[in-house]
Amino acid sequence: MNSRNSRDSLLDFARLLNAVETVYANSASCRLQTARHSTQTFRYIIVMDLEATCWTKETQKWKTHEIIEFPAVLLNLSSGQIESEFQQYVMPIENPRLSEFCTELTGIRQQQVDAGVPLPTCFILFNKWLNKVLLERKLYLPKTELRDKTGNVAFATWTDWDLGSCLSKECTRKRIPKPSCFDLWIDVRTIYRQLYQRRPANFGEALESLGIRFEGRPHSGLHDARNIARLMTRMCKDGANFVITKDLKPFDVLNKK
Ligand code: AMP
Ligand code: MG
Repeated sequence: MNSRNSRDSLLDFARLLNAVETVYANSASCRLQTARHSTQTFRYIIVMDLEATCWTKETQKWKTHEIIEFPAVLLNLSSGQIESEFQQYVMPIENPRLSEFCTELTGIRQQQVDAGVPLPTCFILFNKWLNKVLLERKLYLPKTELRDKTGNVAFATWTDWDLGSCLSKECTRKRIPKPSCFDLWIDVRTIYRQLYQRRPANFGEALESLGIRFEGRPHSGLHDARNIARLMTRMCKDGANFVITKDLKPFDVLNKK
């Protein structure tokens, strides 16, 4: 028996005894498992929820989204507490005037984005916050440490839209180097569907079906992120184990830049 086979059989045996959980899923074989006890793959989660320029269906045809709010909350999965928050308004360049529709939807006003920073500056500010909160808690993201590529903290969003579409497309279009930490994340909706065997139409419905009331203003990025964190805490109690569901560079060993 080679070492990989013997390791796999040991793991199978340990699973029979409920002693371990599968700790990592790549995009090719996303293995979602429920945690039978408090074991979680990640100690902390960084929940993000981007807001972007938008228009009514009739006027949005030729327009592209640009990020206008960039928030993140650091959730301690074992306590359910949000321990730190980051929020930055971002100045749109391609369509600098917010539509009335956008302000109504997100609550974000023209003055806030006019006083915002360009996206590359936002990345620098975010990185500063990120490094600080990770260092303080001895946290490391997946694929940033050779000795443990799983990591003990990961990004999470509701759907793949934020990091898989909005951020990626804007960086590509504007030729802005995208920080590699945004290459892999947990899509909470995927795990929600698996755990509850339900397909809610939107985030509001996902909360409602569990009897959770949205706190704050829907479509405010920071408030959305806080409520995703609340949902994740509840899902943890219901047995969810959060694993990476999307990895844009699954064959990279290390993700340091
Ligand atoms: P959300 O996280 O649901 O607040 O949505 C993120 C972004 O998606 C928003 O900032 C908008 O750019 C876009 N968006 C969300 N809902 C709508 C909608 N009903 N019509 C047009 N764009 C939307
Ligand atoms: Mg939002």
